[in-house]
Order: sequence, then structure tokens, then C-alpha cells
Amino acid sequence: MKILWLDINSSYSHSSVALPAIHAQVSDRSEWEWFVVRGTINDDPGALATAVAEHEPDIIAATFWLFTHRMQIEVLSRAVQLLPKTMIVCGGPEFLGDNETFLRQNRFISAVIRGEGEESLPKFLNSLEGSHAWQEIEGLCWIDSEDNGYHDNGIAKVMDFASLKYPEESCFFKWDKPFVQLETTRGCFNTCSFCVSGGEKPVRYQSLDQVASRLENIYAHGIKDIRVLDRTFNHDTVRACEMLDLFAKYEGKMRFHLEIHPSLLSDTLKAKLSSLPKGLLHLEAGIQSLDSKVLEESGRKGSLKSSLDGLTFLCSLDNVETHADLIAGLPSYSLEMLYSDIMTLMKIGVDELQIESLKVLPGTQFRMQSNVLELKFSPLPPYEILMTWSMSASDIKMAMNISRAVDFYYNCKAWQATFRNLVISDPAFLMSFTAYLKDIMVLDSPLSQERRGVILYEYCRNQYPDKMKDISIAWIQAGFSLKKEPAGNVVKIKDTEAYLTGSHSCMNIISGDYNPTDRHYLFTCADMKILFGYDSENHHPAPIFMAEIG
Ligand code: SF4
Repeated sequence: MKILWLDINSSYSHSSVALPAIHAQVSDRSEWEWFVVRGTINDDPGALATAVAEHEPDIIAATFWLFTHRMQIEVLSRAVQLLPKTMIVCGGPEFLGDNETFLRQNRFISAVIRGEGEESLPKFLNSLEGSHAWQEIEGLCWIDSEDNGYHDNGIAKVMDFASLKYPEESCFFKWDKPFVQLETTRGCFNTCSFCVSGGEKPVRYQSLDQVASRLENIYAHGIKDIRVLDRTFNHDTVRACEMLDLFAKYEGKMRFHLEIHPSLLSDTLKAKLSSLPKGLLHLEAGIQSLDSKVLEESGRKGSLKSSLDGLTFLCSLDNVETHADLIAGLPSYSLEMLYSDIMTLMKIGVDELQIESLKVLPGTQFRMQSNVLELKFSPLPPYEILMTWSMSASDIKMAMNISRAVDFYYNCKAWQATFRNLVISDPAFLMSFTAYLKDIMVLDSPLSQERRGVILYEYCRNQYPDKMKDISIAWIQAGFSLKKEPAGNVVKIKDTEAYLTGSHSCMNIISGDYNPTDRHYLFTCADMKILFGYDSENHHPAPIFMAEIG
């Protein structure tokens, strides 16, 4: 039997683990021949359909994600024209909800699997050889071609998760991507109504020995970045500490990205996190909202106070980077509350801040209760929220514009400190600056870091002239062109030693070491003079020395 896997990702840097995770379980079935056609959501669907048809498969399998759903349909609906006898079976998070409408609208798809595919897809393949009835396959949903009835076998769960073969054992595992994904647990203890993992119970674990051997293998393949897929890494303190010890063995060799719940940081785990080497971890701290009513209505466990305390602790560590996120469009969340939460998170000093819009995903509590909760959302992927009782459509749009502004400036090292200072010092700044970015129509296009600085400088010239010097200093520190206006009044000092004698002898060093042989430039504004030193041998654009001149 020839099985063709249609692997569509949002970009070539991403690679779904669904194919290797499933293929690893059946790679010893030599009578099953597996092929793959890979593409991205930006490719030509006709060309991908032709590539699929060239293999003349008996079965096409495909995984649907939020952002690949549309492209999968584009390709599969064409492929079936070329392969009218080929069966198509699909899986993935898009099928966690009610699948009847989808199957009736896309009759060329034979069946879909709701839930985890490692056991159910092989059973489906077996069924085509007569050894399983479809009624016995957990998670399988289909429309009967004879009586037109919808059949739904619930949800597939691999209860003995630790017995699965690892995706890395499959020949389809991609070792040439910038990072690999590592799932050491499945399921989540929490009950967040916006998340597809909110109903994934029970939590199932691989042993530490299993994780250790997988890490050795991944390291041996030269991988430097690991995204740990465990839904809440620190649900169990003892295991989290043991896992961190495993990770620490790869200090300087691999970097780990983890999801952490800030309200579940025990003293033991705090001590462990504090002791880890710098650069080992990048943490994603789930915050979503800083309003307890919003969190309660979202079904999220964990007290707000302990979340804030935990986040403050994480941000106080200089050995880890902490990313926090907020979700605009949660029930009872307003634009004013979102704005206030952004201020709070910037004051706490998160390293990155992401503001997403709620996606009312199939299989989530919010999707099931969307009418009662008055959630208006797109019926098509990505199911983005359009309006709630507490946020109008224009509030949601404004929230997304703020998200873009925050991403341009706060999540950019060159502008983070200046932007944070502007947001915190004037409660009106973020709204008015975002409106300005919208007016000059830059929110929907990529912006270079320099261009961001020029825009901020021009805006502050009219609105916040006292902040222009901060922008100039940030501009120079980032190593941007000294010939452009945000560099302000900068002059080259030809003989620094001579300059520093006499009336300019008082030098208050801010960073770096003074070296008379470096190249020096002086930035002057009304009330200050700053001397910047550049390495004369290395032509790196950023200064290596900075001092205030008295
Ligand atoms: S958002 Fe995080 S904590 Fe909540 S259910 Fe999903 S994975 Fe679990």
C-alpha cells in the first residue's frame, strides 16, 4: 500500500512532527510504502497537487493546523481530481471539534481522526486491509457513503504515551531545521477554555531516562535549539527540577524553550532556576490577562497574585529570558484592562511581550459555549475573535494595532528601554502612538529597526520633545548610522586626549572602558554631553564605550 503524506507548514523553517511521530510506530511494516510531499502555505496548490498525483498513492494523509487548513483543502481538492480512487484521511487540531459539517462540505475526504494519531492512523490503514472495522477506531469520524449518516468515534488518546517510539526514530524526522520539537509529556493539568489542551487529561509522561537518551541523540545530530512541547513544564516541581538538571548538562551547547506557569513556582524550583547557566533557557510564561475575573471566566487555574509574584521573580533573573503573552478578546476583558496589563508587564520588565487575539478553536470550551458567551468570531480559520460583549470590533482592531506597535518597539532590543520608558511615563502614549503608526500606514508592513527609530523620533519631535535625546542615545548605542537625523548632534572628536583636558576633564563612565586610541564621537544636547567610543580596529557599528562628560 502506498501512503502519501501531504506535509504543509506555514514556512520552510517549521516542520510538523506529526508524520515522524506516526511513521515511527509503523516503520517496520515493510508492505506499507511511505512518501511525502512537502510545501508551505505560500506555494502553488496546483503544483503540489501534481506532485502528490505523481506518486499514485492509495492513501493520502494530511494534518490540518489553524494556518494550514485552507492550503490543505486547496491541494487535496485538486489532487482528488487527478486521483479519483485515492482515499484521503486527515487529522490534526482542526478536527478536535464537531467534524460533521466539514465532512459534508468536503465529501472527497474519506474520514478524519479526532485526537492523537499514533495508534488510530495505523488502525485505519489496517482497516483497509480488512483487519479493523472503522467502528473500532478511536477518534475516527466519517460520513457513510451508503446511508449518508455521520459516524463519530469520540476522541483518540494514547494512554501508554511512554511506550510510543520517538519521532526521531523515523526516517522522516527533519534534522535540518533550526530547531527540533521535543514532547516529553502529553496532556495538561489545567482547564483553560481557550486552549485545545484544556481538555487533554490525564497528563502522561516519558521517564527521565527516555528524555535523557532522546537529548543525547538530538545533541549528536548537532541541534542547538530545542522547543519543549510539554504543555506546562512546571506542573510537577520534582520532575521539572530533574528535567532542568538534564538540560544543564548541555550548557553552552543547546538552548531550551519552555512553557512555564508562573503561579506554580515553588521555592525549590525558584532556587533551581536561579542556579542555571545564563542562556540555557527561554521561558514562555502564560499570563493571558491580569484580571482575576477574566482568568476565572477562562477556566484557568492558578491565582493571579502568585502568577504576578512568579513572573516578577522570573524577570528578576538575569540568566533566563522571559516571554509573556496576553490574549485580547477573552470574555470580560476590555481594551482599558489590556492596556493596563501591558503597562504592568512592561514595569515588571518581561523580555518579550506578545499580544494575541483570541482564536475560538474547534474542541475548546469557548467554541462550545460561544453563543452563551456572545463571542463573535470568524467561522473560517484562524477563527479570530471579532467582537465580545466587553470589546467592540474597533476595540479588537485597536488591540491588534497595539500588538503590532509593541512588537515593533518593545520586542526589539534597540528600542525596548526607550519605548518602555515612554509607555510608563505617559498613560496616553501607547494609544496615541499606535494611532499615529496607523495613520502613516506602517502597521501592516515590515519595518527595519532603523526605520522604527526614525518614526519614533519624528513622532516625539512634536509630542514628546524632551524624549528625543533618549531616542538619539538609543540610536547611537544600537550602532545605527551617525549620519541620519536621530543620531542628533554628533561630532567626531579628532584628539580625544586634548578634548578631555581642561574644561572637559570630568568623565563619568556609563559603560565600557576608556581607550584613547579608540574612535570617539560626542553627542550633545541642551543639558548633556555623551562621549561614545568605537573600536578602531574592529569596524563594528555599535560603540563599545559610553561616558557622560561634565
Ligand atoms: S493554555 Fe497552557 S495551561 Fe492552559 S490548558 Fe493550554 S497548555 Fe494547559
